[in-house]
Amino acid sequence: MTFSSLRAKILRLQRPDGLPDNLLPIRMVFMQRYYGVNQLRQMFLDYFASQGHLARGSYSLVPHNDKSVLLIPAGMAPLKPYFTGQEIPPNRRMATCQKCVRTGDIENVGHTARHLTFFEMLGNFSFGDYFKKEAIHWTWDFLTNVVGLDPNRLYPSIYLDDDEAFEIWNKQEGVPAEKIFRFGKEDNFWEHGAGPCGPCSEVYYDRGEKYGCGKPTCTVGCDCDRYMEVWNNVFTQFDGDGKGNYTELTNKNIDTGMGLERLAVVVQDVDTVFDIDTMKALNEEVCRIAGVSYETDPKKDVSIRVIVDHIRSVTFMVSDGIMPSNEGRGYVLRRLLRRAARHGRLLGIDGAFLTRMANVVIETSRDGYPELEEKRAKIMAVISEEEEKFNRTIDQGLQILGGLEEKLVAEGKTVLDGAEAFRLYDTYGFPLDLTKEILEEKGFSVDEDGFRAAMQVQRETARGARKGTNYMGADVTVYQQLPAELECEFNGYTVLEENSVITALTADELVGTLNEGDRGTVLTEKTPFYATMGGQQCDTGRITGADGSVFIVEDTVRLQGSKVGHVGYVQSGSFSLGDAVTLSVDEERRANTARNHSATHLLQKALRQVLGDHVEQSGSYVDAERLRFDFSHFAPMTADELREAEDKVNRAILSATPVVTELMSLEEARKTGAMALFGEKYGDVVRVVRMGEYSTELCGGTHVANTAQIGCFKILSEAGIAAGVRRIEALTGSNLLAYYRDMENRLASAAAAAKTVPDGLEKKIAQFQAEIKALTGENEQLKAKIAGASMGNAADRAVDVNGVKLIASRAEGLDMNGLRNMGDTLRDKLADSVIVLASVLDGKVNLMVTASESAVKKGANAGQIIKAIAPLVGGGGGGRPNMAQAGGKNPAGIEEALAKAGEVLAAMVK
Ligand code: ATP
Ligand code: MG
Repeated sequence: MTFSSLRAKILRLQRPDGLPDNLLPIRMVFMQRYYGVNQLRQMFLDYFASQGHLARGSYSLVPHNDKSVLLIPAGMAPLKPYFTGQEIPPNRRMATCQKCVRTGDIENVGHTARHLTFFEMLGNFSFGDYFKKEAIHWTWDFLTNVVGLDPNRLYPSIYLDDDEAFEIWNKQEGVPAEKIFRFGKEDNFWEHGAGPCGPCSEVYYDRGEKYGCGKPTCTVGCDCDRYMEVWNNVFTQFDGDGKGNYTELTNKNIDTGMGLERLAVVVQDVDTVFDIDTMKALNEEVCRIAGVSYETDPKKDVSIRVIVDHIRSVTFMVSDGIMPSNEGRGYVLRRLLRRAARHGRLLGIDGAFLTRMANVVIETSRDGYPELEEKRAKIMAVISEEEEKFNRTIDQGLQILGGLEEKLVAEGKTVLDGAEAFRLYDTYGFPLDLTKEILEEKGFSVDEDGFRAAMQVQRETARGARKGTNYMGADVTVYQQLPAELECEFNGYTVLEENSVITALTADELVGTLNEGDRGTVLTEKTPFYATMGGQQCDTGRITGADGSVFIVEDTVRLQGSKVGHVGYVQSGSFSLGDAVTLSVDEERRANTARNHSATHLLQKALRQVLGDHVEQSGSYVDAERLRFDFSHFAPMTADELREAEDKVNRAILSATPVVTELMSLEEARKTGAMALFGEKYGDVVRVVRMGEYSTELCGGTHVANTAQIGCFKILSEAGIAAGVRRIEALTGSNLLAYYRDMENRLASAAAAAKTVPDGLEKKIAQFQAEIKALTGENEQLKAKIAGASMGNAADRAVDVNGVKLIASRAEGLDMNGLRNMGDTLRDKLADSVIVLASVLDGKVNLMVTASESAVKKGANAGQIIKAIAPLVGGGGGGRPNMAQAGGKNPAGIEEALAKAGEVLAAMVK
């Protein structure tokens, strides 16, 4: 007996009238039970837990160790290492409800009933455990018996020649053959370049004719909203070579995905994903803010839905630690937020409104995602800052775009240059989307290829080409050949030296031996070496063989599956698999790194005390030299705030508090109020680092045993690195001592140069300043004297040109200002005069002509004179009839120019 028939039987028994179906006077209408989104999520996880799955909530939206995607697009994405066998899963059956973002669907959002950029994907997964039979059965059982969907409305689809799946649907689950649809590769075969792949089987729900497109061809698989795809089962059974050749995998996997919102649409029997319970509240809030009502104007409806969708993406992305920026995830966030803001404007909303929307997201989703509540303050701060910024730039951008539109019209064009669109994006933060939308409303378009080309040019110059990634996202390296079951125990929290055995060696390939001079990686059973992780830079040191061979460890890397690689070279002797070795960490480097790391914990706490609880770590870097701490905060810190934070850290150091680390469950850790990191993938057991009452953080790093060992702490700089993110750089311990020594030395040499001692330096500088002031005064006086003298000479040299007095003279050493002053004085001294002065300064000629008013009346024109004579000194210039100036490159032409001035004037005033 199948589950469904059993359930049908039970239902019949429970029927109040106790009558079997065929005796009921009226045919019973199928009644769908109502479940909310939060209920459905839990039902799914509970159901699969009861089928032996490890059920867990969502991973972060930020991919971990995976460069192939910016944001998690599907439930399977965070589990890739389990599918590829790079890591061993905690359980061979898992089920999750995963936050997903698909920006690829952005154009559909608001227009179809089923697409969102942010949605939750329910999924059950088998890592080489169960396969098709179980997967299909549970899919059917969950939909029809647990959720209670009408089986008559459900239609499975399978891949063309997947007869195995057909048999299971048909024979095992009793779905009539004519209700099972066969689709081709593009729909029902999951493949991504070379690698694991396989056929899919989807389940569609027929929502009834009223949702159909009415076309005669409308059936399962139609793009319209009648048959909604709710669940997709991927049967990963082949290894493809990318050229159409497939071999059967020994370890077959199951990967399924069902959109929670879509499930809710059919369960709640509503029109679209925007009408399910959690989304409805958002919908109503936008309408309230905008003062519009839903379903009165199709254009407004699109804006309402876009806002409802985008604010969910934005809120969840910020809660996972993503900050708005002009690149990568940050840009996706910025674009979604700005798009939502702009659709707010289209609805006639004045001013900022997105934090109000985000509040509703938090209210409706915190059940499944407590992090939303935890990060509320930060979410609000980030959104309001970015929205304000957008409102400021949008006006500026609109203006520029307006100008560009006019230009298009004037030039009779309809396509905006890609480079212009890029400039708008790059300089004014105007997303391409937005430019496109605004232009499209007016019948223009954008050269998107040109835009991308411009972006590409900028990217390449900024960063250089990226490394290639393979299909599963991890960079292809020799380490992928390492056996998955290989593990390495890290003992470095307690010891810095450890005896162990070599378990693997790699050069370009896995090798059995590394000889003197070879570069490579050594893996051992145990290690005291800390691998670079969580912002803390790795240990370095040496590995010695029993025969005295030495391997220098320059870098320690963490590899998939908690393996640790010691990267470096063989300095002497050789190393082979199975060799007994001693691993020794460079103690001083470790101690300095620990000082810096522990100090960042104290700093984070101090910043939260001084600036507020919105301060969260958004990045950190600690090595043996210094520490860098990035955190969320929206204004530059004042000098007082910096000093206060620094004082707090130093007080915590001086209090000599023991640093205690403990392992506990994530749940317990949260209860201690430990600060956790955004987007970090924590295991079930976490390490909590506590510094007395002062600081408690989840952290896997190595720390000092007592805060006093940090020695001292000093902030060197504080600056903004992205919107709402500040960076502090600081020093501790011996590095700080070295820093002060260096300052002291520089002070001493400065003092020596000033012929005094450091203590006398301020006095000495005051003396110098006074001296400089006195000398400058004297200098000015002398200059004036010289100028006066040469003026006297010049005045004597005035010649009469047809009744106008002309002085054409050199005035050495004067700049243009000086020439003008002198010219003015001479002109005012002599009636009816024209003054032409030339000087050479730094090899360049300055030329100035001025004419008195009466001379101008007689026909003299300074501007014309300069035009005529400037070419002789290799320059050009111009001006008004009474004043003109020019520069030139040819001092040799000065005499000729001065002579010519007379001729030109003579012609003017005859
Ligand atoms: P569609 O063709 O409807 O876009 P898809 O083939 O892209 O769907 P899958 O990649 O198979 O979907 O994802 C698995 C499940 O996730 C889908 O069956 C659906 O329930 C859900 N899903 C996919 N994309 C979205 C989206 N943009 N919004 C909401 N749910 C989605
Ligand atoms: Mg899709």
